[in-house]
Amino acid sequence: MTTPHFPSRLPDVGTTIFATMSALAAEHGAVNLGQGFPDFACDPALVAGVTQAMQAGHNQYPPMPGIPALRAAVASKIEALHARRYCAEREITITAGATQAILTALLACVQPGDEVIVLEPCYDSYVPGIELAGGKVVRVPLTPGSFRPDFGKIAAALTPRTRLLILNTPHNPSATVWSEADMRQLEDLLAPTDVLLVSDEVYEHMVFDGQQHQSAARFAGLAERAFIVSSFGKTFHVTGWKVGTVAAPAPLMAEFRKVHQFNVFTVNTPMQHGLAQYLQQPAHYLGLPAFYQAKRDLFRQGLQGSRLRLLPSSGSYFQCVDYSAVSDLTEMQFCEWLVREIGVAGIPVSAFYGDGFNQRLVRFCFAKQDETLHTALQRLRRL
Ligand code: PMP
Ligand code: GLN
Repeated sequence: MTTPHFPSRLPDVGTTIFATMSALAAEHGAVNLGQGFPDFACDPALVAGVTQAMQAGHNQYPPMPGIPALRAAVASKIEALHARRYCAEREITITAGATQAILTALLACVQPGDEVIVLEPCYDSYVPGIELAGGKVVRVPLTPGSFRPDFGKIAAALTPRTRLLILNTPHNPSATVWSEADMRQLEDLLAPTDVLLVSDEVYEHMVFDGQQHQSAARFAGLAERAFIVSSFGKTFHVTGWKVGTVAAPAPLMAEFRKVHQFNVFTVNTPMQHGLAQYLQQPAHYLGLPAFYQAKRDLFRQGLQGSRLRLLPSSGSYFQCVDYSAVSDLTEMQFCEWLVREIGVAGIPVSAFYGDGFNQRLVRFCFAKQDETLHTALQRLRRL
């Protein structure tokens, strides 16, 4: 049997760093603070809601954009938090997680040769998504060290061919958040253009120290051009359910749904019913900043006095550390050594750059049970 030769659509892509590090962690029995997922259970009430939905017979195709009750709950949440009303019928779609939402938005808007700006370091699905759509990736670095947006560089990257920019706040991997002033600057910059926005806000409910999440929904000049993406996987500790949301103005959403209906068509029905019911109580997401801030603080306090230098963590469930006082190894080499010799898995920040830029930074995920964090801290303090 000879498989015909054919050219790869993604010749430079291998297995994701998250899958690679999780496999290494399992192989070496290491504490897995690499791939971003909680190691604790979600609320049993959420599981009960989904189970009841299955028992009640909600097991066939739902409407293509998602069940009305869930779309209505998402629209109400956005209105309550950000004072912008999206039409549940025409402007909210339920997706198979944020990854599908982002890819679908790209496939819906990007034509071959269009330029799409990513701010590096960036989440690993963005660049392949742009490439699959036939777009040209334009990488603009966030400022090394602070990871602040450099609006001069973003402005310089805009051309008449720029179709779209991908924004991510709170940011994976740097754990920075965009301020209101940052969002206003972006709004001003894009105002004279037709550039669209994918605003990846999957960590919207993990913003710390009393700060407000600055959703693109809060800024008229951004919302009018934005696909705002979120993920129930992150918000309700169910990353394996792969259910996310997109909010966008009707003309954008109409194009999004054309692709969505031939991509997944619909998203699993009982989960949507369980989530619609669970969203009725805002406490289920409003408690998240305090919950994750406590874990962040536990993890940071545990590393005080160690040779790992802590970067700020203002949002997301990540904490980056600078290990330059410990080792000269590259980030990838250091992470491999850490998993093997110290028994803790992290993610090299270089994996979020196209050119593997090395700053001696490792990203750890603190969405873990306190005892998991204590075990990891005991090991990391040996460094
Ligand atoms: N965007 C960012 C920034 C992420 O960190 C992740 C993954 N955790 C995703 C998108 C994908 O989310 P999902 O699992 O809902 O596809
Ligand atoms: N978003 C998660 C992270 O950054 C991982 C998701 C994945 O494995 N693709 O760790």
